[in-house]
Amino acid sequence: MDLSIYERLIKSETSARKYLLGFCWKNQQRFCPRCRSRKFYRLKDGRRRCARCGYPFHDFTGRWINRGALRPDQWLRLIKLFELELSARKMAVQLKLSYATVYKALTTIRQSIWVHAQQDAGSLLGGEVEVDETYFGGRRKGKRGRGAAGKVPGFGILERQGQVSVEVVPNVQANTVLGLAITKVRRGSIVYTDRYRIYDALMFCGYRHLKIDHGKHFSRGRVYINGLEGFWSWAKEWVIKHHGISAHRFPLYLKELEFRYNHRDQDIFTIIAQYLCDFVPNRD
Ligand SMILES: [Zn+2]
Repeated sequence: MDLSIYERLIKSETSARKYLLGFCWKNQQRFCPRCRSRKFYRLKDGRRRCARCGYPFHDFTGRWINRGALRPDQWLRLIKLFELELSARKMAVQLKLSYATVYKALTTIRQSIWVHAQQDAGSLLGGEVEVDETYFGGRRKGKRGRGAAGKVPGFGILERQGQVSVEVVPNVQANTVLGLAITKVRRGSIVYTDRYRIYDALMFCGYRHLKIDHGKHFSRGRVYINGLEGFWSWAKEWVIKHHGISAHRFPLYLKELEFRYNHRDQDIFTIIAQYLCDFVPNRD
């Protein structure tokens, strides 16, 4: 987003609110978040009450943006700093908010990214794809690489000149990783892996499987997995920079990195503003 446009948006709470409302209500057509009825009446406090189910709601009820205590202009500033990859502590200083408030809002952004990633999970990767696993958290002494204890295994699929799909997996056994590869990669694709034997069955699953032996040569013509290895090393540097990521939050951060990679040529600010204006899906 153009900086001058951004500055106009954050000029006041009203301008920021107007921008966000544009994502919340198409053509300003409001409806009850609970039953979708378009019939409601206004309450004295500015909210609306559904004429059908009686549910009272305001402009952001039920949406991600309604979580936390930020004003619309504060949200937009936070999204900008998120786009610029500032640490939560630096954001708190810049925004004059408490660390806890900023952290909660950042978690909300990450959760909205997570939900979108789940919604897009059905779209397949194809053509020439790289498949590889890695381990995060190498500080601890002990066994390195595959099978190392106390590390978080990650599994990734990267479509050359396309999208990446990464996730935390319980283990990197054949059943787990092949199962994921089969559900995410289009049949008939060329799949590049290293010589790890768990990938051997790929050729029986409808793929052309090409292996690269890192011990012998780093790349052999088009047979290389540098794209995904590049992603992993970027992700690992990022994790070190944002130290103190807890293991149970880690999947959320990995999806953020997937999001950043997949939208590398797009305007992340606008996309996140849109995500935050979505309704939070029901858990049940
Ligand atoms: Zn209703």
